[in-house]
Amino acid sequence: MPRMTDRLADNLQRVTAEIAAACSRAGRSPDEVTLVAVTKYTELVWIRRLIELGVRNLGESRPQQLLERSEQLPSDVHWHLIGHLQRNKVKPVSPRTVLIHSVDSLRLLERISVIAAELSLRPRVLLEVNVSGEASKDGLVVSDLTAQWDAFQAVPNVDVAGLMTMAPLADDPAAARPMFRALRQLRDELAARAAPHVKLTELSMGMSGDFEVAIEEGATLVRIGSRLFEGL
Ligand SMILES: *Cc1c(COP(=O)(O)O)cnc(C)c1O
Repeated sequence: MPRMTDRLADNLQRVTAEIAAACSRAGRSPDEVTLVAVTKYTELVWIRRLIELGVRNLGESRPQQLLERSEQLPSDVHWHLIGHLQRNKVKPVSPRTVLIHSVDSLRLLERISVIAAELSLRPRVLLEVNVSGEASKDGLVVSDLTAQWDAFQAVPNVDVAGLMTMAPLADDPAAARPMFRALRQLRDELAARAAPHVKLTELSMGMSGDFEVAIEEGATLVRIGSRLFEGL
């Protein structure tokens, strides 16, 4: 076996153990947290190996790359779109994804709804929120989302399953905790005002540098790239 192959297995094992440890600290079951392996930085050969190692949920940030790779990889992979979705990519992407994490406007959600009706699909989506308020970040502004929440939940043919955020990059993972906590509180607030069919069960938060903190704050999906593929 080449040494490099073992490195990917080691990285995966380490990340899985850290997820389990964070769950245990938070009194949560590891079954509540799904690892989405973010493959945007890596090549097909490594993705195939990761699939062999048992990972089924893969995330890409560019729709075009997701589409290309979904054709090249086994059909039982669950694809997650985690980056910006252009309106003209909604149609090809919707049938290929189990979850779109990055709905950042009402207009985009309405577009997904129209395409869903056309293709007889019911896509699951998350609303991406800019919790930190940094101007450079994608995502809905908190006050806009709370003001427009009734309009969001009235959009037909889609399941709004929860919220997603990206914390600002920081050296200290603890710096992300207030953002993750704010996302969970926003979810609770919206859930309290949700129609019976709207179940905001998912919180997509936490990346390589801060996933343990995110799990402690309630993440159900962690999006991890560099920690898996480092050193290959
Ligand atoms: C790239 C990316 C990730 C993974 O980042 P790492 O720090 O490499 O784990 C997670 N979420 C989004 C939205 C990304 O674009």
